[in-house]
Amino acid sequence: MRTFYHSTRSSATTVTSKQAILQGLAPDGGLFVTDAVDQMELDYKSLLSKNYQDQACVVLSTLLGDYTDEEIGRCVKKAYSNQFDNPDITPVTKIGDDWLLELFHGPTCAFKDIALQMLPQLMSVARGESEDSVMIVTATSGDTGKAALEGFADVPGCGVTVFYPAGKVSDIQHLQMVCQKGSNVAVCGVRGTFDDTQTGVKEIFSDPELNARLAQRHIKLSSANSINIGRLVPQVTYYFFVYSKLVEREAIKAGDKVDFCVPTGNFGDVLAGYLAKKLDLPIRHLIVASNANNVLTNFITTGRYDRRRPFIKTISPSMDILVSSNLERLLYYESDGDADYVASLMQQLNDEGYYEVTKSVKERIQKTFLAGYADDAVTKKTIKETFENEGRLVDPHTAVAKTVLDSIESDGVQRVCLSTASPFKFSADVLSALGKDTAGKDGFECMDELAKLAGLAAPKQLSELRSAPQLHKDVEDLDQMPAFVENSCTRIFR
Ligand SMILES: *Cc1c(COP(=O)(O)O)cnc(C)c1O
Repeated sequence: MRTFYHSTRSSATTVTSKQAILQGLAPDGGLFVTDAVDQMELDYKSLLSKNYQDQACVVLSTLLGDYTDEEIGRCVKKAYSNQFDNPDITPVTKIGDDWLLELFHGPTCAFKDIALQMLPQLMSVARGESEDSVMIVTATSGDTGKAALEGFADVPGCGVTVFYPAGKVSDIQHLQMVCQKGSNVAVCGVRGTFDDTQTGVKEIFSDPELNARLAQRHIKLSSANSINIGRLVPQVTYYFFVYSKLVEREAIKAGDKVDFCVPTGNFGDVLAGYLAKKLDLPIRHLIVASNANNVLTNFITTGRYDRRRPFIKTISPSMDILVSSNLERLLYYESDGDADYVASLMQQLNDEGYYEVTKSVKERIQKTFLAGYADDAVTKKTIKETFENEGRLVDPHTAVAKTVLDSIESDGVQRVCLSTASPFKFSADVLSALGKDTAGKDGFECMDELAKLAGLAAPKQLSELRSAPQLHKDVEDLDQMPAFVENSCTRIFR
């Protein structure tokens, strides 16, 4: 069966899921959604005894109906095998009275691997026999860039160029990127901030002359940003997976409702949970956890979204976001698919920096979503207490979610806290939260000390960076970014 997608801002033009994945963003600036999700048939009970990969096949085939089962099977096999260091891909462990869904067992030790190991496979199939090559161009504040590099490295017909703000990512994140292997990858530091870098990338996408020159050479630019449905859909799987694990461990009976608490930035991860709920997985509440950039906490409690506020740099940098792009999809669904209404809200956000939803939309959202936030001081306290009381190390993003979860009564419902990064990826901040002095220590010294303290080994993916050769040394000014992309295309696609 074909699944049709259209923009959140207009339902006039529909595309297949393959086209939606290749295009990334709808031409009017909206995000692709499907109206069929409420009618899709996916019986969670039929997944209960399946492994992660088999559950992924069912979930992906359901949401991306124009891929054949054989195509999905091939993608899943490539995306979820021994590049994950746990056979369950996303293992589930007990933490206090709740459960931790560990999403950081992939090649870059952050949850973005779940989606970015899959997206290149889905793109590759969608490209089919096309003559056109795809160059992925991404700006990163740290995690996304490395996950995109790992996912797209050596995928036929695809290249990937990552720009990061030079000197403004952590030691480990920097090494993760500049040591990246693969014949189709390019990495470049930019003299500027993350916002400058991201603006530079947006200008590349909308540069008509550059795009025309590349089109002549059969090269299309695309993005690996979380607005692509090919990044969203793979994340739906682990909500089903953890549910099946809780049934298997007899923590719940099939049909019992479960709560999820999700550390949130761009609203992608938690929206995947919302899609799982639409596919009839028994979910009671989705709890949106933010750091001090708590624009979503305010929105969910008041119905008013206001980005006109200072940006705060925190120890959970992947959640330092003031415009949560994927929220647009929630607005679409909770306004019963009123694309004109969504378009008007987005216009207002763009022009005036805020919008307020109607009372009925707000109340519908509040039926499913709860929200809370934790600033750095409280987050550090949670890291310390979780280690001292439960013997578990959690990274700052996970600690934000755990803080919010702990502040809410469970009423006897089983609850899952999503754990989005390995604590070793943020060794210095975790170590300092535990009360240790980190002054003058580099990323690896902190990692070693943390490993010793916890009696754990740091993940190999991170510790082996110590001796890895640095392959990418380019650092450019902002105005050189388009030329860098063009040169990378020449080198990679010849
Ligand atoms: C990206 C990221 C998040 C936020 O996920 P969204 O889908 O943007 O809400 C949370 N934690 C970590 C470690 C991340 O890398």
